[in-house]
Amino acid sequence: MKLLFLGPPGAGKGTQAKLVAERFNLLHIAPGDIFRQEVREGTDLGRLVEGIMAEGRLVPDDVTVQIMEKRISSPEAADGFALDGFPRNVAQAESLDKMLGAKNDKLDLVINLEVPEEELLERARTRRVCSACGKPYNIKLDPPKTEGRCDVCGGPLITRKDDNETTVRQRLKVYHEVTEPLIGYYNRDGIVVSISGCGDVDSVFQRIVRSLEDKGLSGKR
Ligand code: AMP
Repeated sequence: MKLLFLGPPGAGKGTQAKLVAERFNLLHIAPGDIFRQEVREGTDLGRLVEGIMAEGRLVPDDVTVQIMEKRISSPEAADGFALDGFPRNVAQAESLDKMLGAKNDKLDLVINLEVPEEELLERARTRRVCSACGKPYNIKLDPPKTEGRCDVCGGPLITRKDDNETTVRQRLKVYHEVTEPLIGYYNRDGIVVSISGCGDVDSVFQRIVRSLEDKGLSGKR
């Protein structure tokens, strides 16, 4: 199963893509997570992308596509993947088509998560991530068991540098300008399902699983 999660920043792509990947044994591929890890480790790539991410702009396509190509063609991705945050513009989508087309492959489904703008801003205010492993939390809707600590690894929770209001508004602008047109791009192939990303994590997850079942992608029919 080859899935793509689309949606504005804060729609819950990361949370849901990880859950779906776990349930269906897919490789979760998220450029944002990869870039943040590089920043944490202080690599050359990390230094290149840190400022760009803090301003809510997109990392150059050539850099992003090269990293994604490596992941998508890795043996771990052979049984399927859940893309979360790539492609983010039409040029990247065309690169992905080429990568998959070269192996006679294509995306099975694009899951477009819809959340009203006001809620996205509120979610950014209440989102925290583990500074060690990157797991996301929402201090109101999905708090950790121990305040300020990651349930999985015990690492300290922090606010993402790009979750301040100025950067969130910039990321939303980038989303509307260059990422949202991907809904039309993939609609031409009839592979987009739009799902409400509102409500608790489990309700959204159940909606996604039902859509996969409806499309005959879950192994259950
Ligand atoms: P995310 O974790 O998906 O919200 O991504 C955080 C940031 O990483 C974005 O605001 C961009 O700066 C960068 N980024 C993530 N995915 C991409 C992509 N496909 N193309 C370019 N930049 C990206």
